[in-house]
Amino acid sequence: SKEMGKNQTHFYSKVIHDAIHRKVELERELHNAVTKDEFVVYYQPQIDCSTEKIIGAEALVRWKHPTKGLIGPYEFIPIAEEIGLIDKIGEYVLETTCERLGYWNEKYKILGTRFSVAVNLSPLQLSLHGFVETVQRILKKHKVNPEQLELEVTESTLIKGTDASSQVLFDLANLGIPLALDDFGTGHSSLLQLQKYPFQILKIDRSFVQSIEDNPDDIVFLEAINAFSKTLGILTVVEGVETKAQKEWCQKLSFDRIQGFYFAKPMPVNEFEDLLLKMDLQ
Ligand code: C2E
Ligand code: CA
Ligand code: CA
Ligand code: CA
Repeated sequence: SKEMGKNQTHFYSKVIHDAIHRKVELERELHNAVTKDEFVVYYQPQIDCSTEKIIGAEALVRWKHPTKGLIGPYEFIPIAEEIGLIDKIGEYVLETTCERLGYWNEKYKILGTRFSVAVNLSPLQLSLHGFVETVQRILKKHKVNPEQLELEVTESTLIKGTDASSQVLFDLANLGIPLALDDFGTGHSSLLQLQKYPFQILKIDRSFVQSIEDNPDDIVFLEAINAFSKTLGILTVVEGVETKAQKEWCQKLSFDRIQGFYFAKPMPVNEFEDLLLKMDLQ
């Protein structure tokens, strides 16, 4: 009816209004969050596909908002990029992760094991002046080996990237830092990126495993990606593994690592350390 339509329009405009209002608030509050140190780094375990043991983690940032609770990166990272705060937040995540890695080197003797932690990079960080030196300085400060820190970039970074930012990727790789191509299979996927840039790791987006049980095309595709990666000597990580059946498919297709809610969600550092204490390092 006409009346209902009117109410709906009202409803939607309220939803949109609230969303915009929240965004404006977050934009304003994000500046304070940076100075007040309101960010936390969560760690999601990465599992060796064949042994099912933890061999590392991905560091994922959250905003511990004083009144709004925990805010996820999908909501605030784009805002931080827009208003020029991503360099500070990005450096915070790098510093926090490397500080932990340094501590784990001492306390849990992880140095010389295969254990590593991955940090996500925003495309904007690659064009920051002196970014490679910043990474080098942080590694040195916390006595972390370059191969213990992985850096993840998405395909859109490569597409949007300038020659200078692609040089940064080569410089980071030359330091001995393993680079991962993230979210593979979303957007403009091209296996050519793997040949063009110095990637050691390919992270396959969760959209490929989500429907693996009833979509034979996904299996054909995954087999092809895996064969191609193996030929290039690239390590594969399947993301978003949520069920036992999905895990078993990854094992059958012999991927290298898996990451997903089936094993563990991203967790605070103390919970992750409890896991570390229980595991045998490889
Ligand atoms: P991403 O790099 O693809 O990270 C994986 C995301 O998938 C995480 O979301 C993780 O919680 C989620 N995930 C993991 N396993 C599963 C699963 O089994 N099922 C489902 N449905 N989801 C799963 P999160 O933590 O919300 O992060 C979202 C995105 O925000 C990340 O996607 C990454 O692009 C970005 N991000 C996170 N931390 C940082 C950071 O420190 N810097 C930058 N620049 N971006 C970050
Ligand atoms: Ca990632
Ligand atoms: Ca991803
Ligand atoms: Ca992503």
